[in-house]
Parts: sequence; C-alpha cells; structure tokens
Amino acid sequence: MIIRSESSNAVPDARTYRSFADLANAQLRGRDFEISITRRHASRVAVIAPHAGEIEDGTSELARAIAGDDHNLYLFEGIRPEYNYRALHLTSHLFDEPECLALIADCTVVVAVHGCAGLDDRLFVGGRDTGLRDRLAAALLAAEHRAETAGHRYPAVHPNNVCNRGATGRGAQIELPHSLRRGGAAHAIAAAVRAALSDPPRAQPACSCTVDQLLSNPAG
Ligand SMILES: [Zn+2]
Repeated sequence: MIIRSESSNAVPDARTYRSFADLANAQLRGRDFEISITRRHASRVAVIAPHAGEIEDGTSELARAIAGDDHNLYLFEGIRPEYNYRALHLTSHLFDEPECLALIADCTVVVAVHGCAGLDDRLFVGGRDTGLRDRLAAALLAAEHRAETAGHRYPAVHPNNVCNRGATGRGAQIELPHSLRRGGAAHAIAAAVRAALSDPPRAQPACSCTVDQLLSNPAG
C-alpha cells in the first residue's frame, strides 16, 4: 500500500485545467490566489503577470516595476502555502481570466512577464507583436542582457496566448530565469523594458494587421 501525504494528494494538477473556470472550480480566490488590477486610464499599455506571486516568483515585483505609476497592471498571484505552480499555473494560451481580458481589451500594447526554468542568464522574448518583441529585446541587449527572440522554447505566437488578446490581437511576453528576477538585474531589466514601452508606437492603422492576417492566413 502506498501512503501519500494528504496535502500533496489533495492538490489539483493545473495541467488538467482547460480554462480559468476550471481553475476557479478547484482553487479559491482569497485563499489560494489573488487578482490585483491597477488601472491607468491615460495609458493603453498593460503589463500583466498571469503566474505571479508564488507561481513564478519575482514576476509580481517585476511587473509592478515595469508598469510603474503610468501603465495598467494585472497580477494573478499564487498565495498558497505550497504547490502554487502545480495548482495554479494555467498555461498562457488557456489563460482567459475575465478581469484580465477586460483590462487588456482596451490596450494596444500588452507585455506579459513570466519566469522560466534554467540556470543561465538568458531572457526569451516572444509574442505576435514582432515589432514590440524586437524593441524589448533591443532594449534588453542595450542593458547588457542576452535576450533571444527566435528559435527558443517560448515563441508565444498562439492567438489565444493571453499576451495576444489585447486590442490588436498581438502582444509580447518576456521569460526570465530565476537569477534575473531579483536585485540589481531585475531593476535594470524593468528600466530597460519601461524605456522600450515609452518608444512611440509604429505608425500603422490599428485594424490593418487583422485584415492582413485574414487575407494571408484565413485559418489563423
Ligand atoms: Zn508563466
């Protein structure tokens, strides 16, 4: 007979969730997770951390630093005493938490902040907004951090990836290893990302990308 500890046996596996509704059926707001939203009505930039708190630690602080006092901020934070990742990591292309979607619906720039595994100091930047992705990577490189944009494990090009569910259907995400989510490195990275976000947006009608995508990729 195999005896398991009651606590781990009772922890749901987030890999079985197909949507936020599944997570909310298994986990309780206020006990297992919290949602924190700061609206900046003058800004159409949203900084989001869908795996914040103790799920991907350090991403709450980074997202807050990037948003500063001027950009919209969304945090979905794990607050369980343990097993936060296992119980609360709703993968990004299934992350349809309604308050998050409502916030980013009005935002033309969406940047998601994530923590990834890995022992080296590379950052991985992805997302369907390749212009924003490349601006972020360039800013990070200028701050002397290795930022890769292609050929890595985190392309974030799925249309339902939460970073791509803002007003334009295209956003960006940054994956940071543990070593860069704290201290001076995190400060420098937040400053670099903020600088990239303050760049003037490209001159492009808001709807043209959607039309182009429909014409070139009807199934997409
Ligand atoms: Zn994540």
